[in-house]
Amino acid sequence: MSQLDPKESNPILDFALNYEYPPYKDQTGTDKVVAFGDASHKCPIYVEQRPPCNDACPAGNDIRAWLTTVQQIETKKLSKEEVYRMLWNEVSKTQPLPAVCGRVCPNPCEGGCNRNEKDGSVSINAFERWLGDYAILNGFDHEKLTDNVRPETIAVVGSGPAGLSCAFQLARRGYKVTIFEAFKETGGMLRYGIPPYRLPRNIIDAEVAAIERMGVEIRCSTVIGKDISLDELKEKYDAVYLAIGAHKGIRLGLEGEDAPNVMTGAEFLNRVHSGEKVDVGDQVVVIGGGDTAIDAARVSLRLGADKVTILYRRTRNEMPAIDPEIEEALEENVDIQFLTAPIGIVSENGRAVAVKCQRMELGEPDKSGRRRPVAIEGSEFEVPCSILIPSISQEPEWLDAERYISGRDWLKPKKDWSLEDGVFAGGDAVNLGLVCGAIGDGRKAAESIHAKFTGEFPPLEEKKVIKAKDMSLEYYEDAERSERGHLAPEVRVKDGLETEIDQGITEEQFIKEAHRCMSCGLCFDCRQCVSFCPHGTIKRYKDNPVGEVMYTKYSECEGCHLCQLICPCGYIQMGGAEGL
Ligand code: FAD
Repeated sequence: MSQLDPKESNPILDFALNYEYPPYKDQTGTDKVVAFGDASHKCPIYVEQRPPCNDACPAGNDIRAWLTTVQQIETKKLSKEEVYRMLWNEVSKTQPLPAVCGRVCPNPCEGGCNRNEKDGSVSINAFERWLGDYAILNGFDHEKLTDNVRPETIAVVGSGPAGLSCAFQLARRGYKVTIFEAFKETGGMLRYGIPPYRLPRNIIDAEVAAIERMGVEIRCSTVIGKDISLDELKEKYDAVYLAIGAHKGIRLGLEGEDAPNVMTGAEFLNRVHSGEKVDVGDQVVVIGGGDTAIDAARVSLRLGADKVTILYRRTRNEMPAIDPEIEEALEENVDIQFLTAPIGIVSENGRAVAVKCQRMELGEPDKSGRRRPVAIEGSEFEVPCSILIPSISQEPEWLDAERYISGRDWLKPKKDWSLEDGVFAGGDAVNLGLVCGAIGDGRKAAESIHAKFTGEFPPLEEKKVIKAKDMSLEYYEDAERSERGHLAPEVRVKDGLETEIDQGITEEQFIKEAHRCMSCGLCFDCRQCVSFCPHGTIKRYKDNPVGEVMYTKYSECEGCHLCQLICPCGYIQMGGAEGL
């Protein structure tokens, strides 16, 4: 980052010198106007604000703290090894699955990043993956918040990201946790939905193993509601967390859907990822526009299909699937027929042989705000298929359903994530979402469970979110965003299901991305305010951590506002010291 020299002309200083301060009322109520150097009624105050990356992260990660921790290799002259360990401890406060999320999260944090207003967001997701992989390679353990073992025991149903996150957070707090998982292996949709070319299974295994090393017991192939009843769990454990996901694929409701070569995307992916040989034939038709549809299509290609067609009734703009996944599917020659809806199945000898389709156009917006597809009369046509994979959505499949479910099959917890006293729920079973959301849900439920036993609630985060317009982006040097390496389409499809496409970033890029963080809303010790203060009233504490480094001698401050104007990250505001 560049330091501005107060002795030289520069745009910020020119701006400050020519700045026309708005009129203000002095203590007698008289209107006054100040110019640079005049005394004013206001002095700098130091206000930490919420960076937009943190604000946009459903997992609740303190991303600014992650990135600025790595800056300490230079600012505090610490060794890389020391800093990576500190970073890991910071990350693992909220994120037990960084190598997983660093691969599959569609990174809402990057959409919010103020650096988008300059030269592109920080590559936060790739940064997270690098650290996650480093932690796996170096066998890092998670830090516990206490060495004490609490007397209460907790049962978690489901080992997807919501269940794992809840179990992890409770284990950090000293609880004895047991996860019950219906499938043979852990991970939920991470393993039985997302394909290995996007998320290698050894990565799931390694991050689950780190959670087990905290004392969490995982019992696979155990179905709650069948092998053990929910009542037994409630009796034996002090609290139960239901993180059962949404694994039942929703069907189209068309005649002929019971044929053996018609299966929902959730079922298809589950069977393939469970190791079953699924014969897709040469012409696969997938219906839907979400992640499941795109994954089913790309998996089919890797299982040997010649032609894979996705039928989607709206346009690309409305497609809910993660955008890079759509892009990669197109690169792999998946044919996506937009504005096309299935209206029937053509069957021969009990098997589906074609899908009857109709072209659509977009009409008025529906309840979701997306424009409703309207059929175009006389536009019917057929697409032949060797297998038909409807992938329009999923819903929870819960064996003890009648207890909590009314209307559609979703669990509906209260604000504290409880369904009733001692039973909590979260993740996809409550609201179909993303891995980061499920991780956030699991943590919040763990905090509620902990509060139930201790009365300790987590502090409320009420800080204002800082926007780029409230910062001085000129201060930060231009630095091109680092992009991850990717395998080329012609190589990756041929190489099959197991070959990972995303090659991540290098250590050098990882450090560079950390330095691209602008520390929005929190002092990073650039000392511009100290250099520019005309009266030398801003002082620096010695050896204080980042974020609490400056203070003002208010008795000598003239309220010239220069420090506020010069502060790159928007941490300095004028106001609080009036009358001092
Ligand atoms: P799940 O991951 O579904 O886990 C629930 C677990 O509960 C399962 O293991 C299940 O077996 C178990 N269970 C259910 N009932 C019982 C019972 N009675 N007894 C014991 N165990 C039980 N999100 C992203 O962020 N990025 C992506 O790229 C992405 N791609 C996706 C691709 C596909 C094909 C799918 C289907 C989803 C994708 N998602 C993606 C969404 C993401 O996977 C889910 O939001 C997330 O896994 C939800 O976590 P969960 O813990 O709530 O549920």
